[in-house]
Amino acid sequence: MTRTFSFEFFPPKTPEGADKLRAVRAKLAAVQPAFFSVTFGAGGSTREGTWNTVTEIAAAGLAVAPHISCIGTTRASVRELLLAFRSRGIRRLVALRGDLPSGAAGGAGDFRYANELVEFIRAETGDWFHVEVAAYPEYHPQSRSPADDLANFARKVKAGADSAITQYFYNSDAYFRFVEDAQALGVEVPIVPGIMPITNYTQLARFSDACGAEIPRWIRLKLQSYGDDRDSISAFGLDVVTDLCEQLLAVDAPGLHFYTMNQAEPTLELWARLGLPR
Ligand code: FAD
Repeated sequence: MTRTFSFEFFPPKTPEGADKLRAVRAKLAAVQPAFFSVTFGAGGSTREGTWNTVTEIAAAGLAVAPHISCIGTTRASVRELLLAFRSRGIRRLVALRGDLPSGAAGGAGDFRYANELVEFIRAETGDWFHVEVAAYPEYHPQSRSPADDLANFARKVKAGADSAITQYFYNSDAYFRFVEDAQALGVEVPIVPGIMPITNYTQLARFSDACGAEIPRWIRLKLQSYGDDRDSISAFGLDVVTDLCEQLLAVDAPGLHFYTMNQAEPTLELWARLGLPR
């Protein structure tokens, strides 16, 4: 089995951030990931920010997957964007619903849910793009029930997704169960675990509250007990996340997608600890 290892960035907001990301990208490119992905709209980033970051990575000859979301988009604007990506030789996308800044449900555009966006991408561009979608081993925070969320996930895959990337999680059992349940619904595409390195407790707690990813009690209490001691947080976080990745790879997870937070070291430390090829 060929595993897919990939790295996620968010678009930098300042020229200094862009310079820093270039250096981070160079370090991460050395381990030859399958692709870099670039978020869109998350954390207030702009369309231009995603476009600039994506096209720069593509121009450097690296595989890149822009994220695109339903928020505020029309059929015409998505069509235009797909053609623009295609003209740059981009072959992979991460298709999402996205979130309104207020956290309200719904798309406020022509597409309400990611399955509609995936369907549109397939209808417009055939097999040109490898389309990734999001998966939630601990279930999406707005889902009505686990069964409903799984059915929605399966619908989205059947609309034409080639693979999925999960929200991050620290309970490997949640992932294993999710994959099993999705397969029982006929999902056959790879479901790649999303991995969030732990380097900053406050930031992680904020993200986790917003996206519904659980930090298990024992991990949370240990992290809290380190206070401002960043070295201890990073060392403990590296142990915990290395164990998690080892468990996932031991049972044939189809790869790992690292939420790099635009930093090279935490991901490269994990890479080294896991003995992945350089
Ligand atoms: P959907 O699959 O559309 O699901 C959203 C909710 O609606 C779920 O509760 C689902 O059960 C329900 N649902 C789905 N389809 C239907 C249907 N047809 N009828 C009724 N209910 C339905 N956000 C960003 O803004 N920018 C990014 O770049 C970004 N990147 C991400 C990358 C990954 C790997 C992940 C896991 C998430 C990312 N997100 C990003 C966050 C994501 O946009 C949010 O989690 C969003 O709330 C859901 O997006 P989705 O594509 O999973 O939605």
